[in-house]
Amino acid sequence: MLNQSSQWYKLQYPECFVNEEQRMLQKVFADFTDKEIMPVRAKIDDDVTHEKIITPILKKLQVDLGCQKSMIPEEYGGTGERSTVVGAALRQEQIGRGDYGISMHSACTDWGWQPAFTAYIGPFSRRAKAWAKAVLDEFAPKFTGKELAVACMNFSEVESAVDIENTLNEGRTIGVRAKLEGNEWVINGTKFWASNSGIADLNCVVCNMDPRLGIDGFALIYVPEPWPGVSHGKFEVKCGMQADRNTSTYFDNVRVPKEWGLQGPEAWAIFQEILAAPMAMNSGHATGILQGAFDVLLDYTGKRVVGGKPINQHLSSAVILGEMASVITVARAAFLELAYQFDHREIYGPWDSVSMAAKGHAVHVFITRKASELILRGMELMGSFGYVRENNYEKYYRDSAEAKIVLGGVQYGLFTVCRQFYDLDYSSFGPGKLKKPA
Ligand SMILES: Cc1cc2nc3c(=O)[nH]c(=O)nc-3n(C[C@H](O)[C@H](O)[C@H](O)COP(=O)(O)OP(=O)(O)OC[C@H]3O[C@@H](n4cnc5c(N)ncnc54)[C@H](O)[C@@H]3O)c2cc1C
Repeated sequence: MLNQSSQWYKLQYPECFVNEEQRMLQKVFADFTDKEIMPVRAKIDDDVTHEKIITPILKKLQVDLGCQKSMIPEEYGGTGERSTVVGAALRQEQIGRGDYGISMHSACTDWGWQPAFTAYIGPFSRRAKAWAKAVLDEFAPKFTGKELAVACMNFSEVESAVDIENTLNEGRTIGVRAKLEGNEWVINGTKFWASNSGIADLNCVVCNMDPRLGIDGFALIYVPEPWPGVSHGKFEVKCGMQADRNTSTYFDNVRVPKEWGLQGPEAWAIFQEILAAPMAMNSGHATGILQGAFDVLLDYTGKRVVGGKPINQHLSSAVILGEMASVITVARAAFLELAYQFDHREIYGPWDSVSMAAKGHAVHVFITRKASELILRGMELMGSFGYVRENNYEKYYRDSAEAKIVLGGVQYGLFTVCRQFYDLDYSSFGPGKLKKPA
């Protein structure tokens, strides 16, 4: 239970970052996690069809609590959540404390909508606003209704997803092609990995019209499902987080109206924001995963007696518990500060700047690496019991491994951190690397 009146809480979530309204929303997600996810968390990854446990939880979270309409503006019946502190960081920390797959599913419906939402609320041209309006007019009603609706931000491909996320490549490695024929986009190619792929009602598909054009040929196109020409492969069986679906998406002469796509530098600028925004969110996820593991460990090591006293009374164990608690404190301070800075770009600058990208990745790399390292170390304290499903610890170990892979992964993140200080070349093109499309 998150006790918001304790001194511990006030120190962990200081008022300078989390206001009264945000605290109320945080409590809603904390209570939801304790009631709906915690009692079944060890069984979630074994719900292969999603019917028994996962979909019922997602319905409560996405429909009943309204998360699936966070990125729908209020004029369209959504909640139009603009706060990174609450919408991304606090919500994802609390749900991630229960199950990373559930929180990833929820976050990625937001992510799929974020390009249109960004164009709708941001300082973009009439053309970009018209695109957002066309997409919202057509698809918002499904997401504000009473049935579960799912969105997907679909950009990764089999041939190196990081190369697509790598801004230095300016979209030149994107293999999915879009061309305009009259009043329609025609899309061909294959995507891989995206969260919610295969179950999404709406995809934001990252395309390039001509790789030689780089940013000028870059396009974001919304494609609903089911839709002629769109199909999928098998769902990947992952190390953990089975509540998040990942598969291939095949586009075979897929035709959608011209109004559902935006191409050129503005689309690229929106994509850069879309890649920056989840830094606070996934840092919140990883902090929640570490907190969830820590809570299990604290409880277990206080009860289990070895060497004549509870495990947590052995100093060697206290050092591990203390280190976990220290990293949780620093991680929380860092992701809250980052989310706050995202929410105040009038002071801290644009999300797609070199410095902001570096700050986001620095926080993300630190938290995601430390979380998985420490959870594995903590398993030493639980002995064999830590390795067994029903004791709730091993799931955090499996979940944490993934947190440092997404969003370009920690290595790409570190290149981005270096780039604020010197001209590090990590583009895919140049001598000894790929030949630039000409
Ligand atoms: C559970 C899950 C959810 C996901 N959700 C989404 C989603 O919603 N949407 C989406 O589009 N994708 C999604 N992805 C894809 C994810 O973002 C990519 O998998 C991730 O970026 C890694 O890409 P990759 O596996 O193709 O790694 P690769 O591109 O093959 O890179 C592998 C490694 O190579 C190294 N490397 C990369 N670039 C360079 C370089 N320039 N120089 C030197 N070394 C380099 C890095 O260490 C990197 O980690 C998801 C993946 C998973 C597993």
